[in-house]
Amino acid sequence: MMLTFGTLIASLASYLLAEKKVERANAQRLRSLLLADELRHSSDSLSRMAQGYIATGNPAYAQRYQEMLDIQAGRKPQPEQGRPYWERMPGDPLPGESRGSQTSLQDRIAEAGLGEQERLLLNQALLASTALVETEEEAMRLVGSDNPNAEEDRQRARDILLDEAYLRAKQALLRPLDDFAKLTDQNTDLEQAAFYAGMGRWAFVGLSLLWLSLLWRNYLSLRTLLGASPEAVRAEIERIGKGDLSPPALPVPAKPDSVIGWLNETRQHLQTLTEAREQSEAALEEHSHYLCINNRILQQIGENTPLTDILNELMLNIEKRHPDTCCSILLASEDGRALLHAAAPSMPSFWSQATARVPIAEGAGSCGTAAFRGERVIVEDIQEHPYWKGFRELAQWAGLGACWSQPFKNNQGKVLGTFAIYHRQPAIPSDQEIRLIEDYAKLVQLAVERARLAEALRHSEEMYRLIAENCNDVIWIVDLPALTFSYISPSIERLRGWTPMEILSQPLDALVGTEKAANFRSALRELAARLAAPECPSRHETFETELPHKDGHSIPAEVAATLLLDAAGRPCQILGISRDISDRKAAEEVIRHMAYYDRLTNLPNRRLMEDRLAQLVAQARRGQRRLALLYIDLDKFKPVNDQYGHETGDWLLQQVAQRMLAVLRASDTVARVGGDEFVVLLPDITSDIDALCVAEKIRAGLEVPFVTASGDTLHISSSVGVVLYPDHANTPRDLLRLGDEAMYRAKQSGRNAIEIFAPVAMESSTPTSPA
Ligand code: GH3
Ligand code: MG
Repeated sequence: MMLTFGTLIASLASYLLAEKKVERANAQRLRSLLLADELRHSSDSLSRMAQGYIATGNPAYAQRYQEMLDIQAGRKPQPEQGRPYWERMPGDPLPGESRGSQTSLQDRIAEAGLGEQERLLLNQALLASTALVETEEEAMRLVGSDNPNAEEDRQRARDILLDEAYLRAKQALLRPLDDFAKLTDQNTDLEQAAFYAGMGRWAFVGLSLLWLSLLWRNYLSLRTLLGASPEAVRAEIERIGKGDLSPPALPVPAKPDSVIGWLNETRQHLQTLTEAREQSEAALEEHSHYLCINNRILQQIGENTPLTDILNELMLNIEKRHPDTCCSILLASEDGRALLHAAAPSMPSFWSQATARVPIAEGAGSCGTAAFRGERVIVEDIQEHPYWKGFRELAQWAGLGACWSQPFKNNQGKVLGTFAIYHRQPAIPSDQEIRLIEDYAKLVQLAVERARLAEALRHSEEMYRLIAENCNDVIWIVDLPALTFSYISPSIERLRGWTPMEILSQPLDALVGTEKAANFRSALRELAARLAAPECPSRHETFETELPHKDGHSIPAEVAATLLLDAAGRPCQILGISRDISDRKAAEEVIRHMAYYDRLTNLPNRRLMEDRLAQLVAQARRGQRRLALLYIDLDKFKPVNDQYGHETGDWLLQQVAQRMLAVLRASDTVARVGGDEFVVLLPDITSDIDALCVAEKIRAGLEVPFVTASGDTLHISSSVGVVLYPDHANTPRDLLRLGDEAMYRAKQSGRNAIEIFAPVAMESSTPTSPA
């Protein structure tokens, strides 16, 4: 196609060039002929002027003759307007101003661009013309001479111009001009140029036709490709481009494999996509509205808005989105037998009163029936439907035509209530409206369940708060792995002096010091590790510890710790309950004291004495030291009881204990091991003399009379048995036994005496007595 077009352009160019060449050749031919014509006619005109002059003697002829010669010689310009110079008669007026060429005829022949032969012929004619002029001038001079034979000269002049020589000269002029004319007619350049121009013209025409046929063929194939006229395709594209996807008013015949067919398919596809998009947008908008309401409900629940207010706003929101409808909510009573009015903000008040309690039963209106069946009930025309038999008049007053009721249930399937949409006129719900009713019922269910849950949660939180705040135990939560308190119950202040805010708002280091805080964190870390260990499946541990108080002292406490796990089963918190066990510890101390001390004298009892004796024996053995044991029994104590009473006897026992303590060191131990029996342990003695000295101090001390508060003077004495480790025995048991034996011997010796255990001495010694 492009090649054809290029060839077409080239042929057009060559044709135009050939035409130009023809034009130039024609112009050249014209110029040649004009020159030949000028030569021929100017020569004739010169002859006529010369003959005129000779015949009349009128100088005007001679003047015109000379002018023509001047013009031919280039001495004068040619007249530019009017007839050529050779056609002017002597009487013709001269042009006003001549601005024509002032080039001699000879020069013009030379510059005419003639062929060599043509130029020779014209020059030949010019020479002949010049010869004629010379002859004519000669004849004219005869006429102009002023002599008496003028008539003869004129005749001679006439003869000159008529003689044979003149005629031959004339022929010598005309012959080359005729040859020139023939030669010009045979000009091959012009013919060649004309030939080429003709060829070019036909070539151009042929190529143009070829080009047009190609264009036509292309047009036809384009038509086939487009499937319609380009205008129709353009109009269809414009229509689709402007978003008009409706079927065209004048349907284009279906040509599937054409542009119009593809456009049609594209339009249909776009139409389908647009419809789908519009449906999606509508669904999205509906969903957005649903989410907005949902969020609003959650926000209201978060703000503790009463359920009635939440439901009323929800109803108004739905009615705003669906004008010409009224909505209502009825909630099931606790016994599940009736529906109670909950929300119907756009209904008249008499309606709310009438629906204050609707029985849950078959045929009890749309809602009562829906709640009874547990499924949606659509009443298209209230006035005609049997379920509304008892409420028709009421519905008419309220201006209600249709009622679609959807029950909503909890997760266990129990009907919580009904959501109803009322229309002013009888109406059948579309599938989309059915979906909407179900969605709105879910929203109502959400609102009711969440609000009830939030209420229950608030109640529960309140209860737990009351327990936590009024419980003597301290409840706390430590977050892991940060080991920081996230909750502490207010009772912490009673236990440890700090308020919860003081503990939660500052680092532990600032509260108890760096060292204690580090110890606390370390203990918590170990506790968390113990509780997280596989061998501790209960994740619970109870232990006793000492807790620092704000004022510096420590509080004995029992801590019950439980490891809390997050949803992924990782330890996240430790829940602890700390209990002040000061009283229990004190009671335990009392019990422990009672177990090891004599209640009457507050001296160690036999059990504690035996423990200490065992320890002292072990220490003495390790230190290779001595140890003395004094076994003391009061003499004649029973009569005191008998004489002064048991209470006085008790008082005396206490006084005896005090006196013994008074003579002993802090490292010594005195214990009441029986009714009036005492054992003294002396770990710091080095010899039996030391032991005897102490025994003597005791004996002497008890010998001093005791005066009661009532003024009675009591006299008692004591018998003391002394035994030494390791001198007399190596074990506590033997030491006690031998001490008792020694004391017994002191009794036997007459009482108020000291007896040291010594088998040898048993034979020879006498009881030591103050005497
Ligand atoms: P002896 O000189 O032989 O030791 O005679 P005694 O009177 O001291 O009598 P004995 O040591 O055999 O008996 C001790 C008495 O101490 C018996 C009992 O009546 C009295 N007694 C024991 N326990 C208590 C007590 O807790 N309070 C009082 N008041 N008397 C006690
Ligand atoms: Mg006694």
